[in-house]
Amino acid sequence: MAWSYDPQNIFARILRGEIPNKTVAESAHTLVFHDIAPHAPVHVLAIPKGAYVNFDHFAAEASEAEIVDFHRTVAGVIADLGLSGSDGYRAITNAGAHGMQEVPHYHLHILGGRVLGRLVE
Ligand code: ADP
Repeated sequence: MAWSYDPQNIFARILRGEIPNKTVAESAHTLVFHDIAPHAPVHVLAIPKGAYVNFDHFAAEASEAEIVDFHRTVAGVIADLGLSGSDGYRAITNAGAHGMQEVPHYHLHILGGRVLGRLVE
C-alpha cells in the first residue's frame, strides 16, 4: 500500500508551529491537544509527530519506538484527565471517505465526560 501524505494538512501545520493548539501532552513522537470543536466534555486528539495519513499507515510504517511512545502517551493522558476509572471513555479514529476523515494526518479522538451513545446510527 502506498500512502500519500499532504504536508499542508492542518495537523502538519500545528506540528510545525504554524497554527496554535491547546497542548495536553507532548513526548518525543506524540502530541495530544484539545479538539477545536469538542463533542464531549473531554475531547482531545492524539497525533504522531511523523507523517502518517491514518491508522493503517502508522501501524505499518512507524517505528516501534513511535508506536510505543504514542500509546503510552495516550494512556498517560487518559489517566491524567481522570478517564481511566469505571466511567471510561471512547478512543476512535476515522480513515478515508467512508470513515469521514477530514484531516489526513493520523489522529486518535479520545472522548469522555458523558455517556457517548451508540457508535453508529
Ligand atoms: P471528523 O471531523 O469527521 O471527526 P476527523 O476524524 O478527521 O474528521 O477529525 C478531525 C478533527 O479535527 C475534528 O474533530 C475537528 O474538530 C478537529 N480540528 C480541526 N481543526 C483543528 C484545529 N486547528 N485544532 C484542533 N482540532 C481541530
